[in-house]
Amino acid sequence: MLYDDAEKWSREEIEKAQIERLRRSLQKAAASRFYGALFREHGVNPDAVRGLDDIRRLPFTTKKDLRQAYPDGLLAMPHADMVRMHVSSGTTGAPTVIYHTKNDLDWWASLMARCMHMVGIRPTDVFQNMSGYGLFTGGLGIHYGAERLGCLTIPAGAGNTKRQIKLITDFNVTAVHIIPSYALHLANVLRDMGVDPASLPIRFALVGAEPYTEEARRRLEEMFDMKVYNSYGLSEMNGPGVAFECAEQRGMHLWEDAYIAEIVAPETGEPLPDGETGELVMTTLGREGMPVIRYRTRDLTRFLPGPCPCGRAHRRIDRIAGRCDDMIIIKGVNIYPMQVEAILMAMPEVGQNYLIELDRVGVMDQITIKVEVKEEFFVEDMRALTGLQKRITSRLRDEILVTPRVELVEAKSLPQGEGKAKRVIDKRGTDS
Ligand code: ADP
Ligand code: ZN
Repeated sequence: MLYDDAEKWSREEIEKAQIERLRRSLQKAAASRFYGALFREHGVNPDAVRGLDDIRRLPFTTKKDLRQAYPDGLLAMPHADMVRMHVSSGTTGAPTVIYHTKNDLDWWASLMARCMHMVGIRPTDVFQNMSGYGLFTGGLGIHYGAERLGCLTIPAGAGNTKRQIKLITDFNVTAVHIIPSYALHLANVLRDMGVDPASLPIRFALVGAEPYTEEARRRLEEMFDMKVYNSYGLSEMNGPGVAFECAEQRGMHLWEDAYIAEIVAPETGEPLPDGETGELVMTTLGREGMPVIRYRTRDLTRFLPGPCPCGRAHRRIDRIAGRCDDMIIIKGVNIYPMQVEAILMAMPEVGQNYLIELDRVGVMDQITIKVEVKEEFFVEDMRALTGLQKRITSRLRDEILVTPRVELVEAKSLPQGEGKAKRVIDKRGTDS
């Protein structure tokens, strides 16, 4: 059962709409100070767009552009028509602001409702949103989607774990939105309280906002006895509701009636052949207040080949491998934190949190991986722990090709915030 018409469009229908909507988006964008100047500089004529390939001739928009145009250089309509603004959480630097008109919010809510409906959430479900509200889009973005679908929606916000748990049990919550690092932490707190996470009524979890691995997903599904669906979005493209897994859980359908997605080589910006991993570049097709054209997301993924068994023609992207700027270079080797997570989360002795630290010792880079060990294993004798440490080290070395120092630490001893997890601390170059 489908939530709306565009969800069942064929490839032809999608592409036809994309061309028309791209043209309209460019016309709207041209009214903004930023795109007005950019289009003049590059000789962009919206009316000359004939096919989807024409998008490749358009200039990119970068995070830096958005920062420089702060606060309203990208506004394509009068300020008075804007009804909401969000600011990106600033994981990687100065924030950027995104404005929405009433129509923009309306479409965003219906995209979000479509995502939730796709995995089987219905108005009879009780939905608890456990991510931060305020400027972060995971709050209101998900909230209005759940209300649009008709769920009783509990705006729990982030943190205050004991209260979260009380709400879940008192109101028989069947669906939640939660970021992966916090979900793993929640399992620990539940166990401390003597509650088996699987005994909670939750059946669906929308999990996203930061990278996590298939191994972490499996762990969450088992611990909570619930289905976990990967949810992808970014403030610049509204927020959540950009790409979402269907019930097949094999990649995320990117809503191509609302966005044009491209995958390019991060270094050159050149388009990559289908199926290759590169940087996701996104264009809004429906936003009127602040259209964004060919935005370099810096997120790494690929289009999954072939049709999805669910029958939806909107193409799927793979789980986000990380951000371009997440890459660690150590001893000349490139490493992504998610490679480390995949190894750790697959080991039953490993707890719910880990931290990667980079140091420079003399002229040598050193990578230390602090790994929480589950309580029941931490009480084991020294020999068993040393054996575990050796096993973790050798599995990590096989994956990342350098030998890390592995430090085993007690469960819940690593820093755990309410927002996105900080997986890497780079201390190189900070000493004088
Ligand atoms: P910030 O860039 O400050 O984190 P946002 O709150 O807009 O701002 O977060 C969007 C970013 O979060 C994405 O660009 C991506 O890096 C990350 N993200 C969102 N959803 C996922 C997901 N499901 N998997 C991996 N990363 C995600
Ligand atoms: Zn599908």
